[in-house]
This record gives sequence, C-alpha cells and structure tokens, in this order.
Amino acid sequence: MRKYVIMGVQGSGKGTQATMLGEDLDLVHISVGEIFRLNVQQHTKLGAQVRRTMAAGELVGDDLVEGVVKARLAEHDWNFGFIIDGFPRNERQAEFFLESYDIDGVIHLDMPDSEVRRRVLARRLCSGCGMDYNLLASSPAVAGQCDVCGGELIPREDDTEEALAVRLRDYHQKTNPVLDIFRRKEYVVTVDARPDREIVQQAIRAKLGLPPRALPVPSQDGQPASSGQPASSGGQAGPQPGG
Ligand code: ADP
Ligand code: ZN
Repeated sequence: MRKYVIMGVQGSGKGTQATMLGEDLDLVHISVGEIFRLNVQQHTKLGAQVRRTMAAGELVGDDLVEGVVKARLAEHDWNFGFIIDGFPRNERQAEFFLESYDIDGVIHLDMPDSEVRRRVLARRLCSGCGMDYNLLASSPAVAGQCDVCGGELIPREDDTEEALAVRLRDYHQKTNPVLDIFRRKEYVVTVDARPDREIVQQAIRAKLGLPPRALPVPSQDGQPASSGQPASSGGQAGPQPGG
C-alpha cells in the first residue's frame, strides 16, 4: 500500500504525473480540483457551492474540502494505495490530513513562476470527453478540436490571468508552508517539473525508489499513441486535472 501527495504550482503537471504514476502501480488518483469540476459540470449542490470560488481562483472553504476528501477516501477503492493532488493546500488541511492518514511520500514538482503563465494559458480541455491538451506540447491534429471525440477545446474557467494571479499568490502564501511541514517530516522529494513529462516521471520514480515506467507504445508516425492523457480520476469518468 502506497500513499502519496503530489504538490506543485499551477501548470507544473500534477495531474499528468499523478496519472502516469498511478497507472501501472494501481494507485487511485484523487484530484480535489477535479472532483469540484465534475460537480460544477453536473450541476450538483456541491458544484453550486464551489463554482464562483473556483472561477475566481480562490480556495474553497476548509470544511467543505475536508468533507470531500474524507468521503472520497472512505470509498476505500484504493487497495494498492492512492496519490492525492490538490490537497492539502494550507496548514489546517495539512493537520487534518496528518491526523487522519499516514503517508509514504510527498512529490514536489518544482517549477519557477515564470513558467506558470506560459503553461497554464496554453492549457485546453475537451468540452466533450475532458481530454487535457497543452498547446505547447501536444497540439491536436485539427486546431481547436479534440483528437479523440472531435469536441471543442476550451480553456478552464479559472485559467485566466486574473484567477491565475490569485491561485499563484495562494500557492506561495498558503501551500508553501505545507511543504515545509512535510519537509520537516522528511517526506518530500523534489523533482524539476520543466523537462518532458516522461523524464519528470522517471525522476519521480527514481527518487521514490520505484521501478521505472514502461515506455508508451509509439504509433506508426513515431509519436506517442495519444497526445493528451486518457481520462481517469479514481474510477470516475471525466476530464483530467490540469495541475
Ligand atoms: P490548480 O492547482 O491548477 O490551481 P486544481 O484543479 O487543483 O487547480 O483546483 C482548482 C480549484 O479547486 C482551486 O483553485 C480551488 O478553488 C479548488 N480547490 C482544489 N483543491 C482545494 C483545496 N485543497 N482547498 C481549497 N480549495 C481547493
Ligand atoms: Zn474529446
């Protein structure tokens, strides 16, 4: 059983790396932001409670977030472990988490702020199937259109200059102290998030003492078989977290 937390600034690739790590190790990927986005999409009561907060780039209230995390982990579909992304984001959430669950490691994806805008503003989601695209790395075959389902590619509602500034500020003010708490407990491995996603993934595994990932099967044109990441979020169908 392995339990990991993945942390890093917006656009550092938390969702991508968590999914890649979870796939062959059978870890359930839990993305709190993703759970909220699905609820907004499906117009649930929770979705209505968090929609405006999220769009503005602000943090959702701790009670609400802790309830969501508790309920998600109580599903106990994680026989081989989990990797949680987007939680904890402040000291109170970290205390709650450490009291309730023991963890094996914290993956810190390190990326300078100067790279954040570039990556986040190039991010698109398919409005049909939720496939995640980054126009810097993986442009679709037809501009603005999903390779998988032909759906329209749209930005995330909180990937605007304004909301991004709020999110980045909160990350430094509120989430960096969480990293310090975890560092004191010697949980943290830091990995440079700037290289290609495969390289980042191998670095994570090396630092955690895990076996390397089998390389994806290339298609005939020599490119990886898919340009985005397959949608998987702990068994729920839906879009990829952008992390
Ligand atoms: P990012 O890390 O790129 O900002 P996420 O997809 O992880 O985006 O989260 C999107 C939004 O969901 C956040 O901006 C916030 O409004 C809300 N959210 C996610 N996780 C938390 C959390 N632990 N505490 C409070 N709000 C959260
Ligand atoms: Zn699609």
